[in-house]
Amino acid sequence: MNATLAVTLLAAGLFVAPARAGASPPVEPAVVRAVGERTGLYVGRVEVQRSEGEWAFGVVLQSAKPGDYARGWLFLARLESSEWTVALDSTSPFARLAGKAPDSVLGPAEKQIFMAREDMMIQAGNNTELGLPYAVGATWTMTGGPHGWAGTDTPYSSLDLSGGDHVVRAAGAGTVYTMCADSSNGGTPGGWRRVYHANGYTTDYYHLWNLTGLGNGASIGAGTALGNTGTNLCGGGSASGRHVHWGILSGTTRVAWHWRSAGKWVFWQGAAYGGYALHGSTQRNVGTGLYNYGPLGGNQGIVDSNGGGTVNRRGGPGTGYPIVGTLNDGDTVTISCWRNGTTHTGRWGATAVWNRLPDGTWFSDAFAYTGVNTIGPNC
Ligand SMILES: [Zn+2]
Repeated sequence: MNATLAVTLLAAGLFVAPARAGASPPVEPAVVRAVGERTGLYVGRVEVQRSEGEWAFGVVLQSAKPGDYARGWLFLARLESSEWTVALDSTSPFARLAGKAPDSVLGPAEKQIFMAREDMMIQAGNNTELGLPYAVGATWTMTGGPHGWAGTDTPYSSLDLSGGDHVVRAAGAGTVYTMCADSSNGGTPGGWRRVYHANGYTTDYYHLWNLTGLGNGASIGAGTALGNTGTNLCGGGSASGRHVHWGILSGTTRVAWHWRSAGKWVFWQGAAYGGYALHGSTQRNVGTGLYNYGPLGGNQGIVDSNGGGTVNRRGGPGTGYPIVGTLNDGDTVTISCWRNGTTHTGRWGATAVWNRLPDGTWFSDAFAYTGVNTIGPNC
């Protein structure tokens, strides 16, 4: 279909579906209804990307009013008894439809990820298991701490990052889509890309310039280049200088960065765009650099002595066991299993949990960030 036409007509508030082959009703009004019924807001764009017979797939963007930061979903629609059934991604209805859609409308790899993304499964822990959206080993500036997708709205699901080589990269492996793109800043198209990760998290990369050549639905590895930092506004909003506006979602629900981790940094929110990041006890405020340590594994923790210095490793789960070594603040540790022992209080509160390391030594869970209560089985 002619996406530009649809955008223009929608922006004018005069929705007119482009003519389509055959006698079927157009899918676009049904998609508008599906999103509108959800929140009753302005619908800015419906783009059908693939269709075959009774099936259609694409992107829908919605905002409070024209020019505002848009929300976005993938949609899947099926014509049944002359009416379109429309489902938005990361919901049970979408998962059910995905299982029946032809491969030409939703590819096998896409089906795999979306059939697992039912509402109830999207309960990932605070460790996103993602890196930062630039090369591992690089340092960029956090120009804006946790803030809303549209600025000061909650939750504070977004971070602004800029600098380095300006190459924005997928923070983890997943399935990539372009939510919108245009050449409003001149030259090659820029825009908004989204990556759906296998653990239920989703990441948004906005204001991009010079999008790389990735097809919608492509499976990509961690670190895949998505584009350069820029000031593109295809999804509304504003940008005062080139950066990536990086959003975190669970499914398609925006969630706060507060106490979530990426690149082995744990984010703390303050006022919108304020706050800081912690790696162990090392604090980086807005305007300073974040080194991308890469993802923290789901069975790993970051040693946090709550003030710097070392943490004792012991021969068993409690202070009654002998000290057999130390861990440094900021170390990454892999945890085999846990058991209750003596209670201690660290930055993350009081806990009786002790973690066993692969070498058989133990340390108190009070002195690590893991993003979950316990890792692995009870020893
Ligand atoms: Zn931002």
